[in-house]
Amino acid sequence: MIRIQAEGKRHMKVLIADDDKLSRLLVKDIVTSMGYEALEAADGERAWQVLQEHSPRLVVLDWIMPQMDGTELCKRIRSSDDENYRYIILLTGRNSKEDIIAGLNAGADDYITKPFIPQEFEMRLKVGKRILELQQSLQEALEKQRYMAQHDALTGILNRGEIIKVLEKELNRAERQNDKLSLIMGDLDHFKQINDTYGHMAGDTVLAETAQRMKNTLRTYDSVGRYGGEEFLLVLPGCAIEEAQLIARRLLNVIKSQPVLFNNNNIPVTISLGLASNDTADHAGIKGIVQAADFAMYQAKQNGRNRYEVAGY
Ligand code: GH3
Ligand code: MG
Ligand code: MG
Repeated sequence: MIRIQAEGKRHMKVLIADDDKLSRLLVKDIVTSMGYEALEAADGERAWQVLQEHSPRLVVLDWIMPQMDGTELCKRIRSSDDENYRYIILLTGRNSKEDIIAGLNAGADDYITKPFIPQEFEMRLKVGKRILELQQSLQEALEKQRYMAQHDALTGILNRGEIIKVLEKELNRAERQNDKLSLIMGDLDHFKQINDTYGHMAGDTVLAETAQRMKNTLRTYDSVGRYGGEEFLLVLPGCAIEEAQLIARRLLNVIKSQPVLFNNNNIPVTISLGLASNDTADHAGIKGIVQAADFAMYQAKQNGRNRYEVAGY
């Protein structure tokens, strides 16, 4: 915990944009004494550059600067589609209520009037840091939630809803661009027996290991999802049926060639695959192509398992 806090401090970058060198140094002293990393800019254009290059989250902005003044920079920061929130503290002259109003209106979070005492500045920086940390943890929680909504908890691959979405999207794209797309439906062979012989935990391990092996076999733009209990759906964009057959052979091999190790048991695993492609038959949309792949998979089961069959042949 302590280590994380110290790290957070070290990595906190603060942009100080001020055309007055002395004022910049003063702020820099405070920033560095707090253990943050200070980045300096003497005008608005330079400040914008530093923002792009180093992405500091905390910004201390002097209101009157040459090239681009504080309002403009503030507006530019707020209107850029930036996923990270920037906390902006405005620096203004002593009697500049108009500046303050304009600054807050342009999107600044806080202001401090010059001359200031270091302790006050420190406290305002800490408030900014607190807000940023809050925003960060909210964002992380959201991302985690989104990930969990899209992925299968046991295998780590896409869940059924998500792989169907991928298929929908890719099938539409393929139709628009007159491109090929193949689908592989996979179902582990005699999986019930694996559960019955080695236990449910062993079965879970086999599922997770098989999913990983499939994922590693695919190209980066392919997708694999858990369609059902021990059923997997693979979406292969830009892939004609001949290429899908090559991938199918590779999948059969990568799953069969090495048994899955669980509690000192070497568990032999095989899978049956059904292939369908948008150019081998008229599959009438997403439902049709999934059914075709499913049917081919059942043919593979009937024809002895640990093999693939192609729909429409
Ligand atoms: P086939 O070769 O014909 O596909 O036979 P099978 O035994 O694989 O097929 P069946 O549909 O009879 O059995 C599937 C089994 O998968 C039944 C179910 O208990 C098991 N299963 C489904 N989901 C999970 C899971 O998340 N973990 C484990 N361990 N087993 C699961
Ligand atoms: Mg099965
Ligand atoms: Mg099944």
